[in-house]
Amino acid sequence: MAQRQFQTEVSRLLHLIIHSLYSNREVFLRELVSNASDALDKLKYLCVADEAYKGISFEPRIDISFDKDAKTLTVSDNGIGMNGEELADSLGTIAGSGTRAFLEKLEADAKKDSNLIGQFGVGFYSAFMAADRIEVTSRRANEEAAWKWTSDGKETYDIESAARDTQGTTVLLHLTEEGLEYANRWTIEDIIKRYSNHVAFPIYLTFDEKEWDDKGKEKGSKTKTERINSGAALWRRPKAELKPEEYNEFYRQISRDSDDPLLYIHTKAEGALEYTTLFYIPKKAPFDMFHADYRPGVKLYVKRVFITDDDKELMPVWLRFVRGVIDSEDLPLNVSREILQQNKILVNIKNASVKKILVELKTISENDKEKWNIFVSEFNRPLKEGLYSDWANREAIMELVRFKSSAVDGWISLAEYAARMKADQKYIYYISGGDEKTLKSSPLLEAYRAKDIEVLIMNEEIDELVVSQIGRYKQTAGDLSKEWELKAVNRSGSDEELGEKPDSKTEDDAKPIIEKIKNALGERVKDVRLSRRLQDSPSCIVADENDPSLQMAQLLKVMGQGNIPDVIPVLEVNPAHALVAGLKDTEDALVIADTAGVLLDQALLVEGVKLKDPADFVKRLNRLLARK
Ligand code: ADP
Repeated sequence: MAQRQFQTEVSRLLHLIIHSLYSNREVFLRELVSNASDALDKLKYLCVADEAYKGISFEPRIDISFDKDAKTLTVSDNGIGMNGEELADSLGTIAGSGTRAFLEKLEADAKKDSNLIGQFGVGFYSAFMAADRIEVTSRRANEEAAWKWTSDGKETYDIESAARDTQGTTVLLHLTEEGLEYANRWTIEDIIKRYSNHVAFPIYLTFDEKEWDDKGKEKGSKTKTERINSGAALWRRPKAELKPEEYNEFYRQISRDSDDPLLYIHTKAEGALEYTTLFYIPKKAPFDMFHADYRPGVKLYVKRVFITDDDKELMPVWLRFVRGVIDSEDLPLNVSREILQQNKILVNIKNASVKKILVELKTISENDKEKWNIFVSEFNRPLKEGLYSDWANREAIMELVRFKSSAVDGWISLAEYAARMKADQKYIYYISGGDEKTLKSSPLLEAYRAKDIEVLIMNEEIDELVVSQIGRYKQTAGDLSKEWELKAVNRSGSDEELGEKPDSKTEDDAKPIIEKIKNALGERVKDVRLSRRLQDSPSCIVADENDPSLQMAQLLKVMGQGNIPDVIPVLEVNPAHALVAGLKDTEDALVIADTAGVLLDQALLVEGVKLKDPADFVKRLNRLLARK
């Protein structure tokens, strides 16, 4: 017998499972059944796609049995099975960055929500919520030897040679006192009906039924085996027949989410291509939505035969939160997983599916405020990714993304902005780079507010990338179409709608002041100009028309985009402000240098830019304050 050590993460995870997860213990049964179902799917696929497996006579089934006296529960399948190495790999380690995130979340979470387990792909280990020892006996299809994995779920596990008649896996749980409640026919039936009713393979339960004689006296018991799930491929049944509860149950099963979905979209296409799709949008973003190695949520079937659930190409990346099933009638069963991505049929199904989802989202946005708000708060961000990654659907996505605004609280659409625009307004204005609060109090907005012009608040990091892609917003109604350019308020040239240019007298008066500031700041600014957009503040910075914004430059640097030259800002000053006006009558070089430095640095600060030399700013500010 070979004893082996669990990978550290597995030990940590098992410790948590055994000591902290008590609520909703029953999900372990769903996890074991869904592993069995996956194993059957894999073998079923190989039997049609791979010559080497064609000899196997395959009658897929999952069997559950229990023994109350021996305190055991068994879940068995005749699926693909595992050999010794696979047992050690699958049940001794965990792959993926998701695990670490999961552990951290669980360790931090006082409630220790066991519902999360399935989502994080650590399903098997959840069986230690109900058992203190587990034996897994498995034989890999097309191999002769069988192996037994045994562990008490602490530090180590053993693997030894074993015997098994057919391919497949048997998981035997030695139940704890608390786990003993699952050694019961009705409890098991109830759990399976709730979570696993639509598993595509038959699930059988073996139990003892008491027998009575004519006089009502117990005369012994008889062992029976009954099928306990309904098992029809739900997505193939007609819509009219299906109840929302059935859709929801199927969702919980395939997503391993314990909540109902936000919405589902069931489509049967008949025509050039024949296929069925059933998509779900969850109520909560999957935990790994922003991990590079996220788990895709859409499964591909061909004529009801499972092909893969691990293909990120089935949905565009920006729709990675969608869960569901694509079932095609036209793809060949032995379609190779590697070439799926180039498959024309699949590309067509995918394109039509994205369109369908977008139409459904549009309908929800117009008719169901409550659902829509949940959607926006969870998925606005990936939707925005669609704007720069999905050219073909840009216009539809543009109608769906939401932004914050200087005019109202909450989220608004570009269409709402357009409806509120002033009759002669030429541009859609936005401000970006920084959190919502910083942006909303930026001095750059003063004049727009005074003129009652709305400004979009782009406070998410991704907005910098998004907005440079949007460029323009177009609205079409019948034959008429209108189009507006999006303009950053922190750009020189975006102030032309804010009123008259300063008159020539003001300009003449200000000239010597501007010169003084320019000389004092030297290379730190590209130019110093009189501002039209400032009301109360003395100064602000803007980027020159063709430069990236300072925030964009910062973002590109963080993303490691090579040689990003420093963006030199343009400083705009407000001639009506005492700090600026005061420079007119002084020739004191130090006062001029201090004032100019403070005008620039404070403008940078309010825009959320980090000062290169904060000590210098503080020194100059204090000198100015101390002056009479
Ligand atoms: P997940 O199923 O989310 O990958 P689990 O911890 O439940 O995570 O299982 C880990 C791995 O163990 C599975 O990916 C699979 O390779 C293997 N496995 C578990 N149960 C079975 C089974 N009944 N038959 C074959 N392989 C299994």
